[in-house]
Amino acid sequence: MDLPWLIALFALFAALACAYLWRRERAHSLKLESERHAAERAFRDADADARKRAEYLNAHFAADSDAVMLIAPDRTIIQLNDSARTLFGEWAKPGQTLMTATRSVELDEMAAHVLAGGEDNDRQIMINNLPHRVRAVTAGPYGLAIELKDLSELQRLGRARRDFIANISHELRTPLTSIRLVVESLLTGAARDPATTQGLLQKINTEVRALEQMAQELLDLAQIESGQAIVKLLPTPVDQIVYDAIERLRPQAEHKSLRLHVNVPPDLIALADADLVNRALGNLLHNAIKFTPPHGEICVQARAVAGDTIEVSVSDTGPGIPPQDLPRVFERFFRGDRARRNEGPGGTGLGLAIAKHVVEAHGGTIRVESAGVPGKGATFYFTLLSSAPQP
Ligand code: ADP
Repeated sequence: MDLPWLIALFALFAALACAYLWRRERAHSLKLESERHAAERAFRDADADARKRAEYLNAHFAADSDAVMLIAPDRTIIQLNDSARTLFGEWAKPGQTLMTATRSVELDEMAAHVLAGGEDNDRQIMINNLPHRVRAVTAGPYGLAIELKDLSELQRLGRARRDFIANISHELRTPLTSIRLVVESLLTGAARDPATTQGLLQKINTEVRALEQMAQELLDLAQIESGQAIVKLLPTPVDQIVYDAIERLRPQAEHKSLRLHVNVPPDLIALADADLVNRALGNLLHNAIKFTPPHGEICVQARAVAGDTIEVSVSDTGPGIPPQDLPRVFERFFRGDRARRNEGPGGTGLGLAIAKHVVEAHGGTIRVESAGVPGKGATFYFTLLSSAPQP
């Protein structure tokens, strides 16, 4: 072959090789470029996922006092909030299986059911012997968000409210029926002599007073709950508050022939809202009168106990309070067994709760002591701030 042909052939070959190499290089760099784009996209997606997850957790975890857990599709814990840690204890931590962490077969079974696409995702499950409403919501690729709400307090409040309405209805019906019967006797002329008429009118008076007391307590409670009760603290002689409360309730005490002893030094000046403290003390006195059998004794005392504190006490010689009731008497709607079974005198279970609220609004404390022995009665103590420090 001639030299020129050989050169031409070589040049052609070289050109083809160059073209091939260029194309291969270009394809490689295009592939690299697209891989770089894909990686960037994946990174952006992961970032968005992480942000979404953080948003989810913030929304569901931070503000929530309910227990919340995020569970992976294999039912291991990804994350949980403080309430969940408190509820389940030390075993509940990320990486742990739901079953090990919670020791609840029902909860684990529910999570598996919802993860498999099941719809029954809102159940009531007992956790640590307390009823919980458990809701499981699928949380995208992360698996499952489980929320646990403790229902025991709600159920207790619901029960207390139902008891309260039943009590109120009963307490209203009893005096109203009794008033109606007395009024009917008066109308039919059954009371022929003035003494009988006087007795019947006295009965109406007692029942009306009971109704008044109940209406007052309901009003106080409504005011307390709406936060409208404004406390006006002014220097007030304690003996004035005590005598005002006693005078208000004296007819009831006399009706039962109860002896009232008062021991309040005239120089005790408290920082108090006289109307409110009068009401709190009135509730204690009202109970003492109500629970003490005829011819018993009630004693009201006040003394300076520390530099700036005055302690007022009301004691009686009634049946006292059984030890198991002592921690509960200040609870709203609480009534002791005797009172609840209507063997004892009527009431709403609000008097002591209101007294506690009033005393605490004055910066004081209230407590009760009783051996629960009939005749030995109960003593209620509450404190007020002194308007001038005692020497
Ligand atoms: P209520 O008197 O309307 O039932 P309270 O809140 O005033 O409601 O009192 C709650 C419960 O505390 C009463 O039902 C009773 O069991 C108990 N209690 C209160 N004061 C006395 C008292 N002086 N002696 C015996 N039990 C009392």
